[in-house]
Amino acid sequence: MSTNNRQQPYDLIIVGGGPIGIACALEAKKHDLTYLILEKGTLVNSLYNYPANMTFFSTSEKLELDEIPFISTNPKPHKQEALEYYRRIVTSNHLNIQLFEKVEKIKTEGENQHKITTSRNSYTSKNVIIATGFYDIPNYINVPGEELPKVAHYYNDPHFYATQKTIVVGASNSAVDAALEIYRKGGDVTMVVRGPAIGERVKYWVKPDIDNRIDEGSIKAVFNAKIKEIKEHEVIISSKEGDQSLENDWVLLLTGYRPNFEFLKSMGIKLSDDGRRIPQYDPETMETNIKGIYLAGVICGGTETHKWFIENSRVHAKMIVSDIVGSS
Ligand code: FAD
Repeated sequence: MSTNNRQQPYDLIIVGGGPIGIACALEAKKHDLTYLILEKGTLVNSLYNYPANMTFFSTSEKLELDEIPFISTNPKPHKQEALEYYRRIVTSNHLNIQLFEKVEKIKTEGENQHKITTSRNSYTSKNVIIATGFYDIPNYINVPGEELPKVAHYYNDPHFYATQKTIVVGASNSAVDAALEIYRKGGDVTMVVRGPAIGERVKYWVKPDIDNRIDEGSIKAVFNAKIKEIKEHEVIISSKEGDQSLENDWVLLLTGYRPNFEFLKSMGIKLSDDGRRIPQYDPETMETNIKGIYLAGVICGGTETHKWFIENSRVHAKMIVSDIVGSS
């Protein structure tokens, strides 16, 4: 899996080695395109950084790439099973991928000519796919104390929070999963929720569990509330009842993530100006307003990060490669 610079210019460079970047590489290989995946972290880096005990909401066949069977013990696979699946696809198909190499800049220098500058190297390619997902940048809440060491924007393992007064901010799947897990491992959990209730998009099989734990008081929840300030041993919450101070050890700010819009703009991709910041692309081919630069995977949703997932975006790989092959 080493870079073969003699292949330059590549037919295709894929930025991001997540499930959809891998799907694009499989498709490129099938059509004998010269290609390279550039991934800034480890293989399927976002999945690797998901919570340790997470179970996918999708069943395993919906996570399959190129109809390669994904066999899991239960219908909905665990994180480790998904890592195993995508890892085996990359290794057994000898996909051309460079890990721990971040793409920093993409400059279009002419028709079918893009210069890709990374943390280690530079490349030229006729086409580029941006499949960088949304999991790298948290939605910061911008309050004093957000930078304290007791605050985290990613959740990993419940054991860490046993016996600890833990505030979980947010009411979507990530926040609800964390709150339930931490409560069940002996943490003292308070959820702080901006709206009047737990989110509508919470998995239908989890929603009754969190609603019942809140109703019975096992997990405390303050609705219509927001964090005003985070201090070393307390958190100030503001709600209709006014400000209140909660004694506190740890704060998990699980308020979602967003794509790297600056990266998209820096290469000339236009974003919608309606607040959703949806990147401009042709829904038939996935080509952006820059000829030869395509988008694939969850990045396509702008701030609406729930719109695209593996099941409905793995098809982008075929759409893009057939456009590249058709126009060459
Ligand atoms: P990602 O998997 O995010 O891959 C993008 C890759 O690009 C990353 O590896 C990143 O490191 C890399 N990258 C970013 N910037 C650069 C750069 N400048 N240079 C090089 N590399 C870069 N989806 C489902 O379909 N089913 C589920 O059950 C499901 N469960 C989820 C649970 C959680 C907790 C979360 C957070 C998300 C879940 N999702 C699920 C959504 C899921 O994240 C996406 O569907 C999936 O990861 C999309 O794949 P992707 O390849 O588009 O993006």
